[in-house]
Amino acid sequence: MKKYDVIVIGGGPAGMFAAGFAAMSGAKVLLLEKKRRCGSKLLITGKGRCNITNNESDPRQFCAAFGRNGKALLTALFAFGVDDTISFFEQRGLPLRVERGGRVFPEKGKASDVQRVLDQFVIASGVELLTLCTVQKLNCEEGLLTSVETSAGSFAADKFVIATGGLSYPETGCTGDGYGWGKAFNHPLIDPEPALVSVFLAENWTRELTDFNLKNVHIAVQHNGRIITQRFGEAFFTNNGIGGPIILDMSAEIRDALKQGAVQLLVDLKPAVELELFDKRLQRELSAHSNKDFRNSLENLLPKDMIPLFIRLSGIVAEKKCHSVTKVERIKLLSLFKRMELSVTGVEGFKKAIITSGGISLQGIDMRNMSSKKIANLYFAGEVIDLDGPTGGYNLQLCWSTGYLAGTCAAKG
Ligand SMILES: Cc1cc2nc3c(=O)[nH]c(=O)nc-3n(C[C@H](O)[C@H](O)[C@H](O)COP(=O)(O)OP(=O)(O)OC[C@H]3O[C@@H](n4cnc5c(N)ncnc54)[C@H](O)[C@@H]3O)c2cc1C
Repeated sequence: MKKYDVIVIGGGPAGMFAAGFAAMSGAKVLLLEKKRRCGSKLLITGKGRCNITNNESDPRQFCAAFGRNGKALLTALFAFGVDDTISFFEQRGLPLRVERGGRVFPEKGKASDVQRVLDQFVIASGVELLTLCTVQKLNCEEGLLTSVETSAGSFAADKFVIATGGLSYPETGCTGDGYGWGKAFNHPLIDPEPALVSVFLAENWTRELTDFNLKNVHIAVQHNGRIITQRFGEAFFTNNGIGGPIILDMSAEIRDALKQGAVQLLVDLKPAVELELFDKRLQRELSAHSNKDFRNSLENLLPKDMIPLFIRLSGIVAEKKCHSVTKVERIKLLSLFKRMELSVTGVEGFKKAIITSGGISLQGIDMRNMSSKKIANLYFAGEVIDLDGPTGGYNLQLCWSTGYLAGTCAAKG
């Protein structure tokens, strides 16, 4: 059986980094990837543009974005931080640019360029790569891993890195295999759940506005008459609900609240203007169009595509003259702009989830070097770990940082 210093299982961003940096540290490395090519998921990241990292905050704030468990990421982030990520890609001929909210993208906006740089890095660092190779079993003797059994034969190694990702977008190869192995080696597992997901709504008119971007809106999540979370930013309607960055970032709270009862979204389409001021604005528009049909009075307030829907939802007859619009009708119209209430019926599943929350519990991982506390020659990297960040490049940075640390420590340790 062929033997290596380090075997890395899973050729996503975390696995490619772990393998490449282990090889650069002098180890003989085998990278095993189930799909035809490494980094399939990268191609769909950032809507095909790949939001590589986020440079808005310092390492401590960066970790805080991962919530309760975030502090555990600090060592990995000090080992390979946001600036290291930026240098890594720029030094390999991929210029980057920073967009709103510190989100870093390739200048040309092509995720395929990120995948190409990583492919070249893996090859140049001397990693032996086997694609179309599914790892089926990990063999363990006397508390140490010895070999892996795969669809292409068995391979032995001194160290092993599990970087098999989570359960989201299974067509990219992520079927949660790492969770099963971790569990078999007595690793505590936090129940995996779909995270950063769109939300389903009872209102079926959303499909009429699917091409329409809601920029600079404020959305509050209401549960049991209480606002449990809120965000300002970008969202968009989907065929069966609503998605976009601010919805994805609130989706975990929405999902958890839904388990306890009804959840509503309160959308403010004009958050920059107070309710009373906006009412005055509406009154001005209606007086300015006094002798015109109501349907012709909204063009200064709404994009054209949205007007027919708004007229329908307002319940005001489209041909009614503006001077005849009653106060009750105007107040209803006002609430559509300032407090549009939408009823949540569910959240998207793993099939379309950006990431998986939960996974191999941090309790079982020494986060100073990413090694298992249960099996001395096993390491973890990337999404398989119970750490999940918001949108904006945080989750890929988790992969770069933990992949680097796992790879270099596996090679040396
Ligand atoms: C639509 C979408 C958009 C996203 N956009 C962004 C973004 O712009 N910025 C950002 O930071 N994050 C983004 N993410 C999240 C990001 O893609 C993930 O966090 C990241 O890919 C996780 O990397 P990973 O290496 O841990 O796992 P993965 O990328 O899931 O890779 C795991 C690899 O392991 C392989 N594998 C699994 N099991 C086996 C096995 N048994 N044998 C061999 N190989 C196996 C899989 O085929 C896969 O290639 C996005 C995710 C999605 C779905």
